Amino acid sequence: MAYSINDDCISCGACAAECPTSAISEGDGKYVIDADACVSCGACAGVCPVDAPNED
Ligand code: SF4
Ligand code: SF4
Repeated sequence: MAYSINDDCISCGACAAECPTSAISEGDGKYVIDADACVSCGACAGVCPVDAPNED
């Protein structure tokens, strides 16, 4: 399953810089993951300061 980012996101951008498939982009008030591009590597969750990315 793909990862998704919950409302705890503070839009720091750290996850987008780590994503190997560039699946993460800045959205309205938080960052968002393109589920079709996500390969569920977990890198985003590993760098997020507020634990916002989670596997669905
Ligand atoms: Fe990108 Fe991996 Fe996070 Fe999916 S789990 S959005 S591929 S960093
Ligand atoms: Fe949001 Fe966490 Fe990504 Fe920062 S690392 S943009 S807080 S999901």
